[in-house]
Amino acid sequence: MDKLYIANGQDPLRMTLDLLNRVNPLQNEDRNISIGIKPNLVCASPAEHGATTHPEIIEGIIIYLLDKGFKNIRVIEGSWVGDSTKRAFKVCGYEEISKKYNIPLIDLKGDSYVTRSYKELELKICKTVFDLDYLINVPLIKGHCQTKITCALKNLKGLIPDTEKRRFHTMGLHKPIAYLNAVIKPNLIIADGICPDPYFEEGGRPVNLNRILLGFDPVLVDCYAAQVLGYKPYEIKYIRLAKDEGIGYPLSENTAIINIYESHKPDDTKITQKDKKYLKIVDEADACSACYSNLVSALEKLNASGITEKFADQICIGQAYRGYKGVLGIGNCTSCFEKHLPGCPPETEDIVRFLKDL
Ligand code: SF4
Repeated sequence: MDKLYIANGQDPLRMTLDLLNRVNPLQNEDRNISIGIKPNLVCASPAEHGATTHPEIIEGIIIYLLDKGFKNIRVIEGSWVGDSTKRAFKVCGYEEISKKYNIPLIDLKGDSYVTRSYKELELKICKTVFDLDYLINVPLIKGHCQTKITCALKNLKGLIPDTEKRRFHTMGLHKPIAYLNAVIKPNLIIADGICPDPYFEEGGRPVNLNRILLGFDPVLVDCYAAQVLGYKPYEIKYIRLAKDEGIGYPLSENTAIINIYESHKPDDTKITQKDKKYLKIVDEADACSACYSNLVSALEKLNASGITEKFADQICIGQAYRGYKGVLGIGNCTSCFEKHLPGCPPETEDIVRFLKDL
């Protein structure tokens, strides 16, 4: 379906309800189906910091579903390696919604998994995913310090066990993300572009984009997200791979982008990415998102005080360094290095202290 629907504004609950009532995506579905809502709760950080899906969007989806007679609804998520999903449910306001509407919150970190193959890859996927009849993917339109952006396609990484998340990083992320989307096919996507962080997955630098997007094709949604965040869609390797695998279609002159508030002037704000020169001192090889992201956040802080220019050694990080001897490393994977900071992943403030002390 070559259509994207956009609601502009700052009231996520109202905008979500308006989008759903306008498109009515579940009108032909049996009311007894099992529905899973998958937000992005990568870490325990409130939505206004730019890392996680606004709880008002999830509440809007639940109100819409209950109003249409659907009852078998659950929210499913597995936060990134090193953080607790349960803590994220609490900090991000999802526990209140769960109590208010009697909707269960499923922490996929405690789930068993099943194995599915796509081409040469075997993928471990949380079992709960296969108990669902209808999956609603609710990502953010957000920056990512390794893959540049994250939106619909990458949000499915929260549906795999932590061990598999680590393995995805050893495979360079892009291909396994594309292949995962060949196995799991969400029925509906509602993307949060209210105030995402355009640079970092864990948030902290939110920018007001004032929009929510509804679509059905994850490639199309991600192409839109890439453009908003200042990239050409095919600069994001996993978008191109997903397109090549036939998972969806890119933006084209045939794409209808429909602003549902026709009387409003649409907010077309786009981000221009800043060059992060201080990343040149990092040698990253198969690092987990939380680990790399914490290092980049630490370097950003140190860069503000001019310290990054003084480093003589490259800073190594990632699973590919396990067992290797080197000079300066971050995380348990670099435990054989001369100087290394333990942790899996180490916290940003610990990295700042460690690098400053050097
Ligand atoms: S130390 Fe290694 S395994 Fe642990 S989070 Fe960092 S890269 Fe991943």
